[in-house]
Amino acid sequence: MTADDADSILVVTPHPDDSESSAGGTIARWCAEGKKVVLVVCTDGSKGTSDRSVKPEDLAKTREAETLNAAKVYGLAGVEFLRMPDQALEDNDEFREKIVRQIRKHKPRILLTVEPDRSYLRHRDHAMTGRVALDAIFPYSRDHLAYPEHLEEGLEPHKVEEVWFFRAEKPDTYVDITDYFEARQNALHSHVSQVGERSEERDQRTRERLSETGKKIGFPLAESFKRIKIFR
Ligand SMILES: [Zn+2]
Repeated sequence: MTADDADSILVVTPHPDDSESSAGGTIARWCAEGKKVVLVVCTDGSKGTSDRSVKPEDLAKTREAETLNAAKVYGLAGVEFLRMPDQALEDNDEFREKIVRQIRKHKPRILLTVEPDRSYLRHRDHAMTGRVALDAIFPYSRDHLAYPEHLEEGLEPHKVEEVWFFRAEKPDTYVDITDYFEARQNALHSHVSQVGERSEERDQRTRERLSETGKKIGFPLAESFKRIKIFR
């Protein structure tokens, strides 16, 4: 199952590489099919290293450059950096307003983000991103009295029809990414600071994982999602 041709999609990722590692094949496919895909990167990713010689502010710059490289691989329609501090996202008004603003600006039919409610170990930024994105869709982006200052800037209320969650515990939607494996891996490995250079061995491991997912639906390689219909 995939999106309609005329779709516009907003991808809301907690850290710069999360969308690539979890939904890169799907994003590549959507872009190749001519859909308008805009990526919103919530945090600056400035804590994503085990190298003690790397300064957080330098890492943040590196990760923006890596994200823009991934965007070129896909052919994204745009990238928005919210530049919130890494490991500090909260379910609060500041973060919610930023997501509502992006929804009203780009008017997506589908919003793709990370599933917030996982049973066990989860990154706090991921939980906050999924939760706040869902709240931003319903009811905030819909209602003109939520962040009414947006109206003065020409940002009208908007109804997102569907949410797709990556890293879902109980997925119900599968996308055939067999033809988009190369693009997926190239986009993912644009994040050199996180995943290093591409290698045969790593490609093979990823292929095996995507193949396991594909077996559930009959695709050679697939990515999986939880899909929620909100407005029609
Ligand atoms: Zn992350």
